[in-house]
This record gives sequence, C-alpha cells and structure tokens, in this order.
Amino acid sequence: MLLFEDIVRAEKIVSKHTVTTPVVQSQTLSKAVGKRIYLKLENQQITGSFKIRGAINAISNLNPAQKKAGVVALSTGNHGRGLAFAANLMKIRCIICMSKVVPSNKIEGIKALGAEVRLIGTNQDEAQLEADRLSIEEGMTYVSPFDNIDVIAGQGTLGLEIHRQIPELDFAFVPLSGGGLICGVAKALKELNRNLKVIGVSMDKGAAMYESQKAGKPIFVKEEKSLADALTGGIGLDNKYTFELTKQLVDEIVLVSEEEIADGIHYAYWHESQIVEGAGAVAIASLLNKQFKPTGPSIALMCGRNINMDEHFTLISAKS
Ligand SMILES: *Cc1c(COP(=O)(O)O)cnc(C)c1O
Repeated sequence: MLLFEDIVRAEKIVSKHTVTTPVVQSQTLSKAVGKRIYLKLENQQITGSFKIRGAINAISNLNPAQKKAGVVALSTGNHGRGLAFAANLMKIRCIICMSKVVPSNKIEGIKALGAEVRLIGTNQDEAQLEADRLSIEEGMTYVSPFDNIDVIAGQGTLGLEIHRQIPELDFAFVPLSGGGLICGVAKALKELNRNLKVIGVSMDKGAAMYESQKAGKPIFVKEEKSLADALTGGIGLDNKYTFELTKQLVDEIVLVSEEEIADGIHYAYWHESQIVEGAGAVAIASLLNKQFKPTGPSIALMCGRNINMDEHFTLISAKS
C-alpha cells in the first residue's frame, strides 16, 4: 500500500540531501498550447535526475542489519547513479552489477559516486543473476528502480514540491517507464488536489506499461532502442506495485515518437535554456504533439539531464 503519509515522511529525509528544483512558466509552450504551462526543472537535481529521491528513502527505511549488509542494484543509468550517491551519503555499501559490454564512461561515472561496480557476463540477465546471488548469499538488499514502495514514496516527494510551488494545476504530464515516478507523484498531487489529472508519457516503441495496461496485466514487451533510454525496459511480469497503482492513479497514457523526442530536446535547449536527456523531453514533446490537449494550467516534468553531450550537441544543432 502506498500512503500519502509515507510520502510526507519521505520528504523529511529526502529534502535534507536534495535541492528543491525550480518551476518556471514557459512562455512559448503556454502560447503554443493556449493554457498556462509550467516546467518542473528536475533535470537540475543532484546526479542529474530525480532517482536520488527514491534511493535515499529506500536506504533510510532499511533496518540496521540491512544497512550493515548494504544494497545492490542493476543499472547503468540514473538509478545506479542515484543509489550510488545515496549509499555513499549514508555510508552504506553499494554494489551495482552490470554486464561487461557497458561503456567505460558509465562504469567510471558510477564508481566516481562511491559504489562498487561488478562486471559480470555479457548481458543484463547474467548481471541480474549476480545481483540475486548477492542478495541471497550476502544478505544485501536488492533495490528495484521502480517496483519498491519506498522508492515510489521517495519519488512522490516531487509531487509535494510541485504542489507547494504551483497549487492551481489541472494537469501533470509525467514521464513513464516502470511507473515509480508517476505513481509517487500522482499519489501526492491527487491527495492535495482532487481535480488534478495525471498524464503519463512514454515513447511509442516498447512502451511496457502502456501495453500492459491495455492488456490488463503485466506483459512482456520487446525492448527497443530509444532516444529516451531511461524509459526503456519492462515492468516485470511479477510486478508488485506499479502496475496496479498506475491503473488507479494515472488518467491517460500518451506516446511520443523518436522524432518528437528529438524535437523536445531541441525545444528545451533553444526555448527554455535547458539541457535534458530524451526521457526528460517527453513531457514537452507530448504537449507539442497535441495528442492530449490540456484544458487548464499544466505542468511538464523534466526529469533528467544525463545525456551524452556529443549526442546532445548533434540534436540541438539540427535545424527545426
Ligand atoms: C527512471 C527514469 C524515468 C522513469 O521512471 P519510472 O519510475 O521507471 O517510470 C524517467 N526519466 C528519467 C530521467 C529516469 O531516470
């Protein structure tokens, strides 16, 4: 069960170690959409994404024995960075498992944040086996990037922050992959504003939560490469929390194409002076493609900035 009170409690610890990221009103998007559009600049969060919110809350809720044994995760991206940072902050052992084919800059990035990196095998599944072994044999706690109630409550602190910054919102556009982010944010925002609607945004290739909701149960969806790399991956056939919570809390899911994501990154840079990764651009992209037209003031969550800067340079150099 995800309780509003869990999110309130999470904020007490999460806010000690994170920054309150700004909210700005976008003049150009407001004009394009015809309603007031705000942007939550969570791309400016420490480590470059919101993931440290959930990681800090998950670690702080471990019991003393679990804290002693440490945490383990499987992620080359923002969850790995967030968990490494949070564990280091709280003096907890942290091992991030990845396959040997992961690029060296990603490995160094995680190590620089203080985590141990274990390179195993040549694919994600083999790395998963090592993470499972560490949790069974060494008692380390496996921290899922999304399907963990403390992680969800931690991400929900973003919703509390948004409501404090802009109380009069009708719609929130939130990036959606495994659903930890959107479930936490929706729980917080809807508790504080019963009329608010939450719109999930995923990429149109391999949108696991979207396809699973359509099917009425968690299903396997083939993973495809996307500019929004932080949104790729499945929701788990044994999904415990986020499938049901998404069904309850998310009013609609819209999809954006690769071209629209690229345009979103371009737009964020040239109109809002913001550097965002693909996943950080999908909320803007969905407002621009007008698949779902908000009828009142709305916020678009820009959730991350961890993009290869050479790739970013290429994307923003394209003529619009
Ligand atoms: C993890 C992540 C997401 C997706 O979050 P879920 O909780 O899996 O839905 C979106 N954007 C960024 C930048 C992320 O790191």
